[in-house]
Amino acid sequence: MRIGQGWDRHRLVEGRPCILGGIVFPECGVGPLGHSDGDAVIHAVIDALLGAAALGDIGRHFPDTDERWRDAAGRTLLVETMVLIRNAGWRVGNVDVTVIAELPRIASRADQMADILASVLDVDRGAISIKATRGEGLGPEGRGECVTATAVALLFGSGREEGTR
Ligand code: MG
Repeated sequence: MRIGQGWDRHRLVEGRPCILGGIVFPECGVGPLGHSDGDAVIHAVIDALLGAAALGDIGRHFPDTDERWRDAAGRTLLVETMVLIRNAGWRVGNVDVTVIAELPRIASRADQMADILASVLDVDRGAISIKATRGEGLGPEGRGECVTATAVALLFGSGREEGTR
């Protein structure tokens, strides 16, 4: 088995849709700025998965210089990442995410995020944890200037493909 960690942060600006963990927060008023949709939650999960498989990082596979990924949905990138993970002979064990943001308010939607992640990662719902905390007025998260997400992922050898582990 392998473990990986991921971290991502996006500036929150007016005029951008607020999408985190594949969920739209229409009431937010600000949204993450990015070449893609800026979904820091899914980006952190992607880097955790790629890290566990030692397959590089999100910028290597989905570079922001590539027009193909402009405004790309985090969910789309996650689906592509799972192809890489499976082809390398891994399956997901569990994923644990912490979101740090004043806005949007994550907690009431965390179960929905977990449902989406469980579906794309092909794991039981109980293998996905989404935790939310606020910045208590401290730092850029606390001032509502950005959203930050961290993720840890465990992979197991699938016993398929070239990488029987
Ligand atoms: Mg990102």
